[in-house]
Formats: sequence, structure tokens, C-alpha cells
Amino acid sequence: MSEIFTGSFTQQETLPEEAIEAAMAVLRHGRLHRYNLAEGEAGETALLEQEFAAQVGAKYCLAVASGGYAMATALRAVGVVPGDKVLTNAFTLAPVPGSIAAVGAQPVFVGVTEGLTIDLGDLATKADQAKVLMLSHMRGHLCDMDRLMQICDAAGITVIEDCAHTMGATWNGVPSGRQGAIGCYSCQTYKHVNSGEGGLFVTDDEEIAARAIILSGSYMLYERHLASPDPEVFERVKYVTPNISGRMDNLRAAILRPQLRDLDQQVARWNERYQRIEEGLRDTPGLTIVERSEAESYVGSSIQFLLLDWSAEAVAEVITRCGKRGVELKWFGGAEPAGFTSRYDSWRYAKAQSLPKSDRILAGIVDMRVPLTFSLEDCDLIARIIRSEVAAVFQAN
Ligand SMILES: *Cc1c(COP(=O)(O)O)cnc(C)c1O
Repeated sequence: MSEIFTGSFTQQETLPEEAIEAAMAVLRHGRLHRYNLAEGEAGETALLEQEFAAQVGAKYCLAVASGGYAMATALRAVGVVPGDKVLTNAFTLAPVPGSIAAVGAQPVFVGVTEGLTIDLGDLATKADQAKVLMLSHMRGHLCDMDRLMQICDAAGITVIEDCAHTMGATWNGVPSGRQGAIGCYSCQTYKHVNSGEGGLFVTDDEEIAARAIILSGSYMLYERHLASPDPEVFERVKYVTPNISGRMDNLRAAILRPQLRDLDQQVARWNERYQRIEEGLRDTPGLTIVERSEAESYVGSSIQFLLLDWSAEAVAEVITRCGKRGVELKWFGGAEPAGFTSRYDSWRYAKAQSLPKSDRILAGIVDMRVPLTFSLEDCDLIARIIRSEVAAVFQAN
């Protein structure tokens, strides 16, 4: 009898008791809108911003309705206008090119390496094509950020970091999201903190911060923010910055604050699980482990491996066989977008682009979520199942 896994890949942990109590307090007083404050009250949203800014060492922070909204706001705040080109990763998820399309700009895709990070050679080649890079730290893999910043600084490219999968990660000790001009994070259920929907935006640039706050829908109430620039900065931008509502509310902020306090502990738990699976998969014939850089401290909330140069049929067979044994794998090489997964050539609103080196890698990327509801024994079992199915299909081909 072969072993079967019966756990759920989409079940997150319940929220901490402290978060539930904080949410109840907001529900009881009813002031859910962030600017609806009692006399002398700061409000959960403003406090969340203040705390997250301190946590990542940023001057300014803005909480918004989603990660995707934070990214579109970032593009607007740095002055991207319709028709502009924006560099971005070919290996990422739909909200990333979507944020570029949201402002009427055109994504220019940069390739992916076998380490699943942006191809810095390709970036250097394309550096003259755009003034902004929307850098997606896809699935938590950080590229050589020092080298990336050198390339972008030399070319005058503004970097916006999509940290949907790197909240809590660092590069050489620097929190992810703090090397580019702006860092954007998602608080959606499948990311590292969970308020259902939500996003965070950090920057050290006062004008970018002031524009973002007004863009998010602050009306002229920006003085109620606690992680914001001085009022005189708003004076410079307030007449020319549109209000494109996408605020966070106090209920979500209340849920997030205790989770952010627990983040480091959660990261350690994710990594225990990630490392157990990685160990279990090591030295499987035909399977390539994605090695991580020494400079990177990551958050193992998902794991990827490569079935490089396998036929599409063989990869599909591994996915099917693992699925039958309860192990849900996703494949980035699939011709048709499915679930949360799609490929750069399925985004047909973007100009068609050809990245043959990346196509070879994308065709081999297999991806799996690692929710914290898995025990370490679950992780061992999952790795055994993948290992045996990969080996079986590999031998047969
Ligand atoms: C989830 C995600 C986002 C956007 O986050 P939302 O909060 O869902 O809008 C951006 N980039 C990547 C890579 C993501 O996975």
C-alpha cells in the first residue's frame, strides 16, 4: 500500500486569540473606517503603519486594500503614466503584470534563472528600455540584491519591490522591500500575515509617501497618519494627486498587528517545514533542488523544485500521480493558466515576448504550498510521496 497524505494545502492556521479580541473591540465600537476616530484615538490602521515601519526600518508606511493595490499605487507614485514601459519578472503571478496594466503601462519581461530569481544578465541588457523595475521576489527567492541595485542605479531605474512572498525575509540582513524605492507587501490569506485582503507599502522618500497616501484615498485627512511625512510635503502634491480609494480599514489592521508581532516566530516554523521537505527531496534522481544563497534569509511558505528538461507529459504525470496521493503540486510550465498559476505568455494584454532560456526553466518549475497547519511528520510524508513518484516517472522515461 502506498502512503497517502490527507491534509489540506489551503488551510491556514486560525488567527491568534489576541487578533480575535482586537477585532471584536473594533466591531464593538463600530469605527471601522480608518479616519473615523474617537477623541484622542490613533486608530488601528495608523498604529499598524507605525509598527510596520519600525519593524522594517522604513520612514513611511501606508496600509492599503491589497498587495496589488500597493503595487499599482507605487507605480503611480513614482510617476508611471499610460504608455510607459515597466520592467518586470517573467516568472511571477498575474497581479504583478496586472499592476502595470492597471496604470496603462506595458510590461517588459525579464527572464528567470535556475535559482528562480530574476536574470541579472537579461536585466542589464534591457535596462535601457524602461525607467522603472517592478521586481517580484517570486516565491520568496531573492536575487543578488546588491548587484541588482548596482545595475538599476547605474541605469537610473527606480526599483519597486513586490514582497508578497518575502515579508519577514532579508538579504544580507536588510529586510526585503528596503533596497528599492518602495516595498509592497500583501496581507492576503495565503501570504505571511492574514487579514483576508490587505497590503502594506513602505518607502523612505517623502514625496512618494505623500503621493501614495493621497492616492490611497486620504482626502485631506492625511494628518491622521502616524508614519507619514510632514504636512508641508503634502502641500506640494495635494492638488495634483488623484484620490483612487484603496484604504485599509481598522478591522483588518486590528487583526494584523498581533500577527506582525509574531512574524519572526512564524518564519522559523515555516523554515523548519521547508527544510524537512527539502531534505526529503535531496538526491532524488531527475529532480533539481533550488539552492538558496548564503546572503538570503528566506520564508519557506512554499517550496519549488525543478524537473529540468523533462517532457511536458512526464511532468504532468508526476503532478497527477502526486495529486492522487493527496499532494497538491502546481506546475508553471502548463500551457493554460490554472488556479493561481499562469505563465508570462498567457498575459495577452502584454506585447508578445520571447524568452527561450526562461521557457526551458518555467517548463520545469514545480511548486507547492507549505501551510503552517502541516506537522513536521506531514512534511516528511509529503517528501516521500514526491520522491517516489518522481523516481517512478523518471525511471519509466
Ligand atoms: C499575492 C501576490 C501579489 C498581490 O497580492 P494581493 O494582496 O493578492 O493583491 C503580488 N505578487 C505576488 C507574487 C503575489 O503572489
